[in-house]
This record gives sequence, C-alpha cells and structure tokens, in this order.
Amino acid sequence: MPELFRAAKAATMIPGAPVIEDAAIIAHQGIIQEIGRHADLRSSFSGTVTDLGDVTLAPGLVNAHSHLELAHLRGKCPRGAGFVTWVEDLLKQPIFDLDQTALDEAVTELKRTGTAMVGDIATRFAKKMAGVLEASGLSFAVFVEAIGETVPKKTFLPKGEFEHGTFSVAGHSLYTTHVDVLRAAKAEARQRSLPFSLHLAEHDDEVAIMAGEPSAFLDLLQGRGRLLDFAPPKKRPVEQAAALGLLDETTLAVHCVRVTDEDIETVRESGATVCLCPRSNEFIGVGRAPWEKWAASGVPLCLGTDSAASNDDLDLWNEAVYLKKNFNGGLGFDDLLAMVTRTPARILGAGRKLGTLEPGKLAAFSMVPDKIYELF
Ligand SMILES: [Zn+2]
Repeated sequence: MPELFRAAKAATMIPGAPVIEDAAIIAHQGIIQEIGRHADLRSSFSGTVTDLGDVTLAPGLVNAHSHLELAHLRGKCPRGAGFVTWVEDLLKQPIFDLDQTALDEAVTELKRTGTAMVGDIATRFAKKMAGVLEASGLSFAVFVEAIGETVPKKTFLPKGEFEHGTFSVAGHSLYTTHVDVLRAAKAEARQRSLPFSLHLAEHDDEVAIMAGEPSAFLDLLQGRGRLLDFAPPKKRPVEQAAALGLLDETTLAVHCVRVTDEDIETVRESGATVCLCPRSNEFIGVGRAPWEKWAASGVPLCLGTDSAASNDDLDLWNEAVYLKKNFNGGLGFDDLLAMVTRTPARILGAGRKLGTLEPGKLAAFSMVPDKIYELF
C-alpha cells in the first residue's frame, strides 16, 4: 500500500528547486512516487499517512568516505599528534581483527543518523564489508583498496553481485601504492565505469615524500621494508596524481589538505570530485584543507567521516556542523547539503537512486537536525 509522509518542509536538493513548504512525499515499495505540497497531493491519495511534524526532510545522506573495517578502533587512537604518530599507533593496534559488534554498532549509527549510502574503503575484507552493508539495507560502494606493489593478473575486484551496491576500486595513496598498481587500478575502474577513490594530499609527509625531502613517515615505511626503491617524482601530490592519469570526472580525491592554488585548478580542470574529511584531519592533526578555496573553485565537494580510528562518530550531520562552524565566510544551506547528498550520490555511481528527493528514487530520506538549522 502506498504511504504518504507529511512534513513541514522538504529540501529536495534538485538543483535550483526551492524548499517545499508543507510538503508530502508519496512512496510505494520503497520508491518515491510523488513529492510536492501536501495540499496538492492529499486529495487524490489513499493509503497510509504518516505526519512527521515540524521537520525538514532531505535526501538520505551519503557518506563519501568511511572505513568500516576499523569500526573497532573507536576511541583507541591518539588525537592531534600528527600523521606519523597516528600511523605508528595504528600499526600497533589489532587493525585486522574485525569485531562484529563494533561493525553492527557502526551500521546502526549510520542508519540512525540519516545515512542512506556509504563509500567504504576495504583494505582486506571487501566481501565481508559488502555482505554487512547488503544485509543492513544501506546502499554502498565498497572500494577495494589497492596497496603495495602487486598488480593482480585479472582484476582487483572479488566476485559478488548485490542488490544495494557494488564493488569499486581505490588506490590507497601515492606513497603506499606503486605507480603501476595505481595506473592499473584506475584503468580497471575506468573500463568498468566505476568510481575511483584515492587518499590525496592528506598531510605534510606526503608532500615531502613526493618531493624527495626527508620525512619521518618515509623512514617509518622503509623501516618496515616498504618503498625501499621509491623514486620521488619531485612533484606535489596533486601534480603526481594528474601525471599518472588518476584524476578525471569519475575520481574521488579524498582529503586534499595540502594543496596549492595551482593544485586546486588542476583538480578543477580534471573534473574530479573532492571528499573533505574535516574532523578526521583535525583528529589526526594534519591541518585543515583550504575549504573556502575549494568551495570557491567550483570543484564538486563531498564530506566523509573517514574511520572511527580518526573520528568521534560516523554521524555525517556532525561533519557538516563542524565544517560550517569553522568555515570562514559564507557557506549556504544548499551548498552544505549538496556535499552530503547530491554530489556524493553522483560520484559514487548512485545518482539515479539517491541524492535528491524526486519520483523514481529511493524513498530514503533524512531529517535536517536542529544543529544544522541553527547554523543558518
Ligand atoms: Zn581514509
């Protein structure tokens, strides 16, 4: 039976569309049939009516960057000590001891806080993560992360078909993934028309390693037998990513903290989308991305919580609150909401089912919390 949801307002996030006052959404079998003013839709409707009251509906949120594999490390990693210390500590933790209870709690938290989809990075357990997300009903892109020096013979992706999501391909970073592996990973993503994700320009050590300058992090990696024959490209991270052909309109570049004006222009020209993870950057202590420049550049922007090892929670609304509170200058309601709905849905390949409230899309909506409204 169709259901009608009535709410004080609905922000459809359709570009240019105004917020609907006294709104109604009619949904059937999980799909939006109609959305508009309650006064216009109620007369011809017969079915279940749910009055949600004085709330603003928005599309279900899309968290563009998480690592559910690390759900069990919440509260266990050092805060504000810098990237090298954070990684040193992480390497002492039982990183790959998955904890089903922590995973279940993470998924429950995502759903409770209005998240409809995640772009989740899986370093080792892609099949397991896709299984957990499929069972949860959340939509997902599980990025199988390429790291190290081995190009797989056939594919980076495990077998598996899902109702609610897909596998995709990610490179870990320019300094932990061999250039041949990065190129192959991007090539596979392109060939399969899948999004490609890459941690890019996250911290100063990444800049130093690329430039061939001394770096405590390079020492750490080489002490573990990694990057022993690494030849620094003598480029900035964004320049190197562009030179390797990793940046295009299906690439999601994550973090982009250590960038110059020229780098921002390079990303803009490439058509890539940037995922900012402001609270993760603050937690680890790598500094702050030039959000205002990114916002002014016209580069499509998303927000991600990153993992529980570098954030207090996986509540994407809290990520948006943090960004807005610390943003210098104007950042409009629509621009902020686009970063957690329309833009990430598109780059994660789910623009046809999520990202806006309109007929034919999933009836997956969130409610804009007061903590957001209070900021405008
Ligand atoms: Zn990450």
